[in-house]
Amino acid sequence: MPLAVESSILIIGAGTWGCSIALQLARRGHTGIKVLDGCPFPSPIAAGNDINRIAEEGKCPKYDANEPDDMDSDEDYFWNKIHQLSMNAWKHDPLFKPFYHPTGFIMAACGDDAYEHCLKYAESEQAKLVPLNTAAAFHSTMPQGVLTGPFPHWRGFWKDGGAGWVFANGALRAMHAEATRLGVKFLAGSSKGKVESLLYSADNDAVFGARTRDKVEHTASQTILAAGADSDLLLDFKKQLRPTAWTLAHLPLSASEAEKYHNLPVLYGVDRGFFIEPDAENHDIKICDEHPGYCNFVHMNGELRSVPFSRQQIPKDAEARMRRLLHDTMPQFEDRDFSFARICWDADTVDRYFLIDRHPDLENLVVAVGGSGHGFMTNPAVGMLVADTVQGKVEQRLQKMMRWRPELSVNRDWWDTQDRYGADGKVMDFQKSNGV
Ligand SMILES: Cc1cc2nc3c(=O)[nH]c(=O)nc-3n(C[C@H](O)[C@H](O)[C@H](O)COP(=O)(O)OP(=O)(O)OC[C@H]3O[C@@H](n4cnc5c(N)ncnc54)[C@H](O)[C@@H]3O)c2cc1C
Repeated sequence: MPLAVESSILIIGAGTWGCSIALQLARRGHTGIKVLDGCPFPSPIAAGNDINRIAEEGKCPKYDANEPDDMDSDEDYFWNKIHQLSMNAWKHDPLFKPFYHPTGFIMAACGDDAYEHCLKYAESEQAKLVPLNTAAAFHSTMPQGVLTGPFPHWRGFWKDGGAGWVFANGALRAMHAEATRLGVKFLAGSSKGKVESLLYSADNDAVFGARTRDKVEHTASQTILAAGADSDLLLDFKKQLRPTAWTLAHLPLSASEAEKYHNLPVLYGVDRGFFIEPDAENHDIKICDEHPGYCNFVHMNGELRSVPFSRQQIPKDAEARMRRLLHDTMPQFEDRDFSFARICWDADTVDRYFLIDRHPDLENLVVAVGGSGHGFMTNPAVGMLVADTVQGKVEQRLQKMMRWRPELSVNRDWWDTQDRYGADGKVMDFQKSNGV
């Protein structure tokens, strides 16, 4: 049954998805929304609290955004719809529009497997791609003097438009501010906002809110769990979520240096890492190394589980990979100290489709989790789809792809690389890594 607009709604997590969900529900007239977060806003552990994120418009930029087709496979239909809804927001919604920078996208790889992955991506693209097979070709994609490296073994292509990056932190703040203006109440902090447990009915067949660390019980007609990778600590997801971490660092530029580094395409090395042009405020270039991810495996109740932790520090091997990326592409910065680094967690589903559904056995609980590495650019669509779920009108083909699906995770291989490349081509374990 659709939820009345005056019913109380509790959202756990004021990160990327929590803010988007609050915004979309408030825009649809819901008046009783409360959002809890265990950290002051913007949460330092939120995956979306970062200077930027890659954004792709989808496969068919001849349309304003992807046009889903009834003849599409369920998988294509899902992604086309998600891109269409999201890109419509990034291009036309006054709240999101200022944050999207369609500067283009370079996708490349060094290893053969990773290059195969690039080729598959290129084949599915309808946009014109410029092949890049020499260092000079790579250099020509950016103003002179930006890319100066030898690009050893790099091969790929350049998509001049139809993709780029979004100012993530700016979009997060804008969603939060607008949701607040529309009446959403945010409670944040390690005591009053940190959820320790859900509140269950006596028969354990319904959820009626959450208890925070200060022992306050926040009751609601509808609870939405959107606590990112940490959601796995609050509910038994039956192995549907694998908290997985990646590593990022900021490379500081002076204001005068940064002038040259504007409007750059995102350079994404599938098995090396990526960087995005300096941010306007601090002139920091955000760098990530690429790899299948780190987990933090511990034994809990006889099972192996990856448990997130927060750290503004990265393993030495991650830094070494970032420096190799700089050596290959912009050796002028190879030895410069980073100004910031952190481990950043997301939750991977088994198939990397989102998990947005009503819990099958717990009434009044919706889960909105499983960003799986692409949950920022898609966050406007996520907010809308969660609002559809709450209002009981989510499209059936989309619901099928995002459904509660523990049957797919029964024998889950925690070490599955999930179509990711880089480092030694393996999921890494923080328990065994160097420097964290
Ligand atoms: C390094 C890295 C690079 C990425 N790059 C891209 C990219 O280029 N493009 C893209 O689209 N996506 C990218 N992603 C993925 C994207 O950032 C995530 O999928 C998305 O931000 C997930 O949003 P979320 O709301 O689920 O989680 P988060 O944004 O992490 O939010 C979770 C929130 O829950 C709060 N919380 C946690 N536990 C509790 C608790 N017990 N009680 C209350 N609150 C709690 C946290 O404080 C946080 O605010 C990247 C992810 C990583 C890690």
